[in-house]
Amino acid sequence: MKKFAYLSLGLALACSSPKSDQQSFSAAQRDSLFQGEASSEEEDLTGTDLEKSLQDQGLVDIVQEIPGIQVELKYSTEDNFFKQDVYGDLTRCYLQPLAAEMLANAQKALQEEYPNLSLLVYDGVRPIRVQQILWDGLDKPDSIKPLYVSDPKIGGLHNFGVAVDLTILDLKTRKPLDMGTPFDYFGYPAYPDRELQMLAEKKITKAQVANREILRKVMKGAGFTGIGSEWWHFNAFSRKEAGDKFPLIQ
Ligand SMILES: [Zn+2]
Repeated sequence: MKKFAYLSLGLALACSSPKSDQQSFSAAQRDSLFQGEASSEEEDLTGTDLEKSLQDQGLVDIVQEIPGIQVELKYSTEDNFFKQDVYGDLTRCYLQPLAAEMLANAQKALQEEYPNLSLLVYDGVRPIRVQQILWDGLDKPDSIKPLYVSDPKIGGLHNFGVAVDLTILDLKTRKPLDMGTPFDYFGYPAYPDRELQMLAEKKITKAQVANREILRKVMKGAGFTGIGSEWWHFNAFSRKEAGDKFPLIQ
């Protein structure tokens, strides 16, 4: 049985916190940040229990809410930064209903213009207790931990269930569009706010930026905002709005 504690490893730095001038991390660097095993009662929480808990907190399964949307929780596969399945039984993506409604509008807009494309979601809500395990396991002084993970006392927008990580899937080839970097790539080629520089340095291509533009257009049209350091991450609400409207998801 998969142990929930493993979540802490997989959810490490993906969309962690406000990323000031974020540095790139190698796998070894990132792995080395985590010391020791988490040992708490959460350790025995399985993905199925987690799903029930998310439902009890009012979150919705986006596949139930959004016609045609595709989901591949990257941390429920071995195709992720840590090369291990850390979500275990949980394979469904949950969001706050309002965020799911906005995402439905983005999916609709995409399919109206490109019937052969669909949004493909990699991650949604991330319970705060996962963030806490991660925070506790990070072998750094508290003062610099926020450079690496969101402070669980504050929470990031994934912790409120109003942020989503996604790309676009070509329904004919069943392959995601080429966005220039994989999901969870940490470094300037993944930065929307470095695209001109990365184009000039030939680290990404115009076609890759054009694919990102399709994603940005439908997400922004539905009311989401992006961030400067990850082409795949979008927020349905500002941090302040999220704090006013929603509880942190436990
Ligand atoms: Zn994210």
